[in-house]
Amino acid sequence: KLYNMVQDLKGNIRVYCRVRPIFNSEMNGVIDYIGKDGSLFVLDPSKPYKDARKTFQFNQVFGPTASQDDVFRETQPLIRSVMDGYNVCIFAYGQTGSGKTYTMSGPLGRSATEMGINYLALSDLFLIYIRTCSSEDDGLSLPDATMHSVNSTKDVLQLMEAGEVNRAVSSTSMNNRSSRSHSIFMVHVRGKDTSGGTLRSCLHLVDLAGSERVDKSEVTGDRLKEAQYINKSLSCLGDVISALAQKNSHIPYRNSKLTLLLQDSLGGQAKTLMFAHLSPEEDSFGETISTLKFAQRVS
Ligand code: ADP
Ligand code: MG
Repeated sequence: KLYNMVQDLKGNIRVYCRVRPIFNSEMNGVIDYIGKDGSLFVLDPSKPYKDARKTFQFNQVFGPTASQDDVFRETQPLIRSVMDGYNVCIFAYGQTGSGKTYTMSGPLGRSATEMGINYLALSDLFLIYIRTCSSEDDGLSLPDATMHSVNSTKDVLQLMEAGEVNRAVSSTSMNNRSSRSHSIFMVHVRGKDTSGGTLRSCLHLVDLAGSERVDKSEVTGDRLKEAQYINKSLSCLGDVISALAQKNSHIPYRNSKLTLLLQDSLGGQAKTLMFAHLSPEEDSFGETISTLKFAQRVS
């Protein structure tokens, strides 16, 4: 009941924040306070303590000790709404190393309790609703993408792992830059509602490319083009979500391939969830602030 009230207040866009643990315990962190009400206080290391605190507000904030299950539990109602015919899109945003892949897929060599949202979402849908499905070509215009029909969570896991291997392989051949690509996992659901009508919906699970600014003095040629392309697609995504949040009449989907591709699961009746990931170290403060500003803009 409470969940529905929050939804009504916030419309169809929610923003969650997740702060990963600090790895080197001798380093200073910038996170001052995480509230159960979704508030987050960070400290600007360049300022004296009395002026250092900045406050941000989210629908939820998950701290360094939050488990994958804690995160999934707050995401599950949204995922289940796919079975009521809603299109849903979940994004992981943040600089490289902030925990995007951890949230969506889980860590490398993950154990059963470390599985990410992609896997937990699909096993939940299979557990509750899906019996079998057939897949057919939907005219998806993505040159290297393939569509597969799945009958069990195991099928999904295998496909996801194949996708991860593909991402890793192409990143090795391009100087280990998996963080410089968006990974999009699209689930198409087709079924019958209780009165026998056809129900169609989609769930898009997106592990975005790292949001860090690339220093123009350090990269040239193709790498610079690539960096500019990524920055453009992320800023277009921000434009689209913020236009939706403000209920603008014009939504600029056409400004990037990413937003065009995800159009069905953004806007209209669709539900959107953005995870803003933070690396808590002092050294990352600049990127942390830019992630927080991005999140503020879209909420
Ligand atoms: P990104 O995809 O944003 O580049 P990763 O998900 O690869 O970042 O995370 C970077 C490192 O931090 C990985 O070793 C990952 O396992 C670890 N990590 C990220 N988030 C968490 C977390 N919440 N708890 C424990 N380890 C984490
Ligand atoms: Mg990653």
